[in-house]
Amino acid sequence: MKDIQIEEKYRRQAEKLHRENPAVDAHLDLAGEVLIRRQLGERDIVRHHYLDDWKRGGFSLIVSSVFVENRNLSNGFENALQQIDALKKDLADLTEVRLVSCAESLKKAIAEKKIAILLYMEGLEVIGEDPELLTELKKQGISGASLVWSRKGAFANGCCRATEHRQVRGGLTTHGRNAVRKMEELSLFLDVSHLNDKGFEDIQAITERPFIATHSNSRSVYDSYRNLTDEQLRKLAGQGGIAGLNACKYITGSLSGNHLEMLCRHVQKELEIMGEEHIGYGFDLCDSYTTASCRQQGKQSSEAEDCLKDHGDAVLLTAALLQQGISQETVRKIMGENLLNYFLKILPETGQ
Ligand SMILES: [Zn+2]
Repeated sequence: MKDIQIEEKYRRQAEKLHRENPAVDAHLDLAGEVLIRRQLGERDIVRHHYLDDWKRGGFSLIVSSVFVENRNLSNGFENALQQIDALKKDLADLTEVRLVSCAESLKKAIAEKKIAILLYMEGLEVIGEDPELLTELKKQGISGASLVWSRKGAFANGCCRATEHRQVRGGLTTHGRNAVRKMEELSLFLDVSHLNDKGFEDIQAITERPFIATHSNSRSVYDSYRNLTDEQLRKLAGQGGIAGLNACKYITGSLSGNHLEMLCRHVQKELEIMGEEHIGYGFDLCDSYTTASCRQQGKQSSEAEDCLKDHGDAVLLTAALLQQGISQETVRKIMGENLLNYFLKILPETGQ
């Protein structure tokens, strides 16, 4: 299928928007990729693999997950700490990029035209049943977490993986409820992407602070359990959360290559359901990560999954949204303002 062809006029408008306004990506598996590449002997990984694209896309904030693959779960907590340490080392000499963990440091980074990185746990399987370990993760610079990835954990059941289609049942466990309370006490933000439907319902019933879906789309546009139903999107918006627009083709449903068209359809649907204040970008670009991980395991790289080549291509998506008739003001909110406002509100005011 043919994808949307961007007209020059909208491309120029989008480039200007990205030059003059902050862009935010609510989900990138960065810390894990940096650890793997360092283990493979690479150095200066963010500089070589990401920095130019982030600048081209005008990014002010990248939310990096700490994601522990199944193969590393037996020493998962240690692997998570290694990822955090690897990212800190990689950024040590990179003056353009800065780790942040509170509203004050995020504001300062933006004022000084730095690219801020916020760390969060994609899945808490690595802390077992012990919410007290959240305190330790926070000390290491973690600002948020999802309870579980697409697998079973002590706190909750994840939904199926993006490439599968099966309903997973069972909501939060007692330990999971305790973990949510502990996260609220520590002012950690809560991500519901990868949770199953019952888990979403439980979170919605017990949380007091706005939660977020960092990288999930609309299920009525593409029927994947990784996406949110209209009802869930309404609830997410109703409590002040944001849905980050995922650009993995198994989640957009653009399996025939109509990537921009499908991304736009998810945005249009979410605008209709949630309004313009509750949508952001949460691209989940993973081809670079997967290439590194496959190389480490001596496996052949699997086929590309990303709908955007890199963060610089966020400009193309923005142009496509403009071309669909979405106003510049709304697009500006979607490309960054909404997520920035969310994080400035949800993060602790100062570092503790
Ligand atoms: Zn994910």
